[in-house]
Amino acid sequence: FNEYPTGYPEPGKTVILDKSKAIDLENEPLNGGVLVKILALSVDPYLRGMMNKEHHYSNPFQIGESIFGGGISKIIRSENPKFSVGDHIYGIHPFVEYAVLKDLESHRKIDNSEGLPWSVYLGVCGMPGRTAYHGYKEYMQPYGDTIFITTGAGAVGSFLIQLAKLDGLKVIASAGSEEKVKFINECGADVAFNYKTTSTRDVLKEHGPINFYWDHVGGDSLDCALEAAAHFAHFVICGLISGYNGQPQPVKNFGFILYKSLTVNGFIVGNLDAKHGASFLDFVPPKVARGEFKHREDVRRGLEAVGQTLLDVQTGRNEGKAVIVVADD
Ligand code: NDP
Repeated sequence: FNEYPTGYPEPGKTVILDKSKAIDLENEPLNGGVLVKILALSVDPYLRGMMNKEHHYSNPFQIGESIFGGGISKIIRSENPKFSVGDHIYGIHPFVEYAVLKDLESHRKIDNSEGLPWSVYLGVCGMPGRTAYHGYKEYMQPYGDTIFITTGAGAVGSFLIQLAKLDGLKVIASAGSEEKVKFINECGADVAFNYKTTSTRDVLKEHGPINFYWDHVGGDSLDCALEAAAHFAHFVICGLISGYNGQPQPVKNFGFILYKSLTVNGFIVGNLDAKHGASFLDFVPPKVARGEFKHREDVRRGLEAVGQTLLDVQTGRNEGKAVIVVADD
């Protein structure tokens, strides 16, 4: 990590590839930990928040240290009785090729009995899938019939659309390109639109009122949803990406929360994992393996691609779950 950005992260500047820090794979001391070969790393919107000196819910990245995030790795050497050589694990990893991991409390072994590509465990079968699943189970049932979902072609949004359709909800979903709108339609949305060329306000006026709003964006999207909300509607604040890169995020219609007796929940996926994690694993990977859930990945190869991918996820130039494949199994 090279410098705290004030706006968008800049490829070649905000993070840089440092080839000077090789480790000795045979002799590096493990001190009770494991040595892993990193296979795939997840580039998620929240990583931008980790680039702020004062981050709201986690420790920020430190200049000169590797950035870190969700990843899949294979164990090469182990001094931890919970993990054996050859195991594949999911958890927070530094963005490097090989690493010694000592704090393994939150890492878990992946039982990939479905034979899915490992990268899928960073997307629909991983944290973004859990986000949609846990939040949906916790907050979105069973109060009404019309839901509005922003960033509908993304990893969280596209899965959420399909969960809502399984329950027979009417789904309105938006995304930032015609190509993404096509994918939203394939996921089963009843109304899909490009918010850059079509007014969100007009669409919600025509197809609302909405009983649920699942927010990934904040700002004007949230204002439009507040205007289109039915009385007693439920709002889930899952993400606020329109403000992640230093932009102001005014919300004018805050008063509707009061006037329409709305319920608003914010949540962080990890806080719901103990409650919904087991049922997620029973339900989602088998269905993904059978092709019953649509999902898209935007796979880039090699750590060289990280800087550009970080920016692309913030600006909507990712076409599906952004993943860096670092090595083959
Ligand atoms: P996506 O794959 O959806 O990528 C982010 C997308 O956000 C971009 O592709 C872009 O899509 C959209 N976007 C970027 N800027 C704007 C903008 N100014 N206005 C509207 N849309 C914008 O990411 P994920 O599916 O991984 O995450 C979706 C959201 O969920 C994010 O806000 C993320 O922070 C949040 N999240 C929250 C979690 C939690 O625990 N609460 C956990 C995981 C994710 P487009 O081209 O359509 O504009």
